Amino acid sequence: MAGFDYDVVIIGSGPGGYVAAIRASQLGLKAAVIERDRVGGVCLNIGCIPSKALIHQAELFRSIPGLEAMGIAVDKRGFDYSKVFEKSRKAADTLSKGVQFLLKKNKVELIAGEAVLSGANEVTLKSGKKVSGRTIIVATGSRPREIPGFPFDEQRVLSSTGALMLEKLPKRILILGAGAIGVEFSHIMSSFGVEVHLVEMLDRILPLEDAESAQVLARSFQKRGITISTGTKALSLQKGPSSVSVALEDKAGARTTVEADQVLVVVGRTPNTDSIGLEKVGIATEKGFIPVGDFYRTKVPSICAIGDVVATPLLAHVASKEGEIAVEYIAGRSPEPRLDPLSIPSAVYCEPQVASFGLPEWKAAEKGIAFAKASFPYRGAGKSVAIEQSEGFVKVLYDPKTKEILGAHAVGAEATELIHELLLARTAELLPSDVASMMHAHPTLSEAVMEVMRAVEGWAIHA
Ligand code: FAD
Repeated sequence: MAGFDYDVVIIGSGPGGYVAAIRASQLGLKAAVIERDRVGGVCLNIGCIPSKALIHQAELFRSIPGLEAMGIAVDKRGFDYSKVFEKSRKAADTLSKGVQFLLKKNKVELIAGEAVLSGANEVTLKSGKKVSGRTIIVATGSRPREIPGFPFDEQRVLSSTGALMLEKLPKRILILGAGAIGVEFSHIMSSFGVEVHLVEMLDRILPLEDAESAQVLARSFQKRGITISTGTKALSLQKGPSSVSVALEDKAGARTTVEADQVLVVVGRTPNTDSIGLEKVGIATEKGFIPVGDFYRTKVPSICAIGDVVATPLLAHVASKEGEIAVEYIAGRSPEPRLDPLSIPSAVYCEPQVASFGLPEWKAAEKGIAFAKASFPYRGAGKSVAIEQSEGFVKVLYDPKTKEILGAHAVGAEATELIHELLLARTAELLPSDVASMMHAHPTLSEAVMEVMRAVEGWAIHA
């Protein structure tokens, strides 16, 4: 560390930055994290955690008809969404404090302030203070992307942050963008009785996921009254004193105008790379992302970049894993130089849940990769019937010659948990026959994983 304040200086304390810092400290490196806002980044404060807290409350609310079916009358007149909001903030605060505690416990120095790169081994805080590091990790994350004509005002035109901060729900909402975030907000809002219209420019909701999984979800959403317009573009917006009207255009060029109380724009994220001094150290971005090579090193050998600022999936667990790889390399270890793109899990938390990793069929076809597939319906696992959640399936794509698992897709109850057994099988280089013959407790939803692997082998019992 000769001559430097720290071995590693990390800008940003999101799931990329804080995990990198703790791992660095575990490996004997002296680490500091600089944060301009709240510890834990988007994920803990205005992303994964508060949204899942809202989803949990939404699902409790959705369970009321089940209680009523048992003869329990629920008086909904006292329903107060601000209490739901408060719970989501409590979850975020608890975890942000938890991360502060972990940083302290691991002897990571937390520096409050906004930093810019001022040299290959130095950052400068707004206060003028300079901090030097043998290495620097940029983990400054991302922010909601605006679209022309729809600037966020967080009153009528909401970003995901504005939607998470609502203390009162609108009656009608138009959601632009049916990726994971748009779908999750559709689930939350519609659960609480908001009239939801979900608009997607591409041909289906969750366009990056398996097409059949997306279809199951779309059908389920429509059944509960969510309006879905795919292949549809939002053209323009007019704001009234208490509502918005948005002009939409479908693929055939037909135009309609939709009225709503608020519009939520969730069409992607912009990396926070524009005002962090990259130009001072000679790093040029590509479409806003920082180009990186092995071990997430930039073209300046002492500077790494991880998480939402690099062009890998914008997910919390991706940011954390990239942080681990970068610091293990800095500590002189030999981690895998990059994440295996086929082993990155994706999880969408709605009802039914959607989860996957690896190749979807459409991508395998696009890339000309030969694959075989097997699927198993949830209703074949007795537990799904017992808990009245038998909608969905588990599907696996595999190499027809070697049976290597190339991808897996699940839509249904707890799909976001089930996917990991399939991913473990791929990671451990197990064959479908290994999982097919492993005993699974009965009744569990995991039996669907065992059965899909048996389906690969041609002997699913409950199909
Ligand atoms: P961030 O979490 O964005 O953290 C970056 C930090 O850097 C911030 O705290 C910021 O204040 C700080 N910073 C920026 N610039 C500076 C500077 N110059 N000086 C000092 N500090 C700076 N992902 C999932 O995997 N699962 C989910 O369920 C999920 N749900 C989501 C729901 C929503 C509504 C949103 C918006 C996102 C969700 N994500 C989810 C995505 C996830 O939040 C991000 O991928 C993740 O937070 C990226 O981590 P990061 O460390 O790269 O950056």
